[in-house]
Amino acid sequence: MSDETPICSAKGCRTAAEWVLAWNNPKIHTPERRKTWLACEEHREHLSQFLGVRGFLKDVVKFSEWEEPSTP
Ligand SMILES: [Zn+2]
Repeated sequence: MSDETPICSAKGCRTAAEWVLAWNNPKIHTPERRKTWLACEEHREHLSQFLGVRGFLKDVVKFSEWEEPSTP
């Protein structure tokens, strides 16, 4: 863990992230692979929808409750 404040992944947003969006693009990632975006309260829905319409979104988790999937 770094001690830098995590920032929302939305373009141009500098707000501290509160949510972790876990996603996977089946065309380029193996099924167990998880990419993550960070989102502030304001952008959580926008980013979820962006991933959701593409069928990529797997999970939305509170940043404080997020655990990196352990790599084998
Ligand atoms: Zn944001």
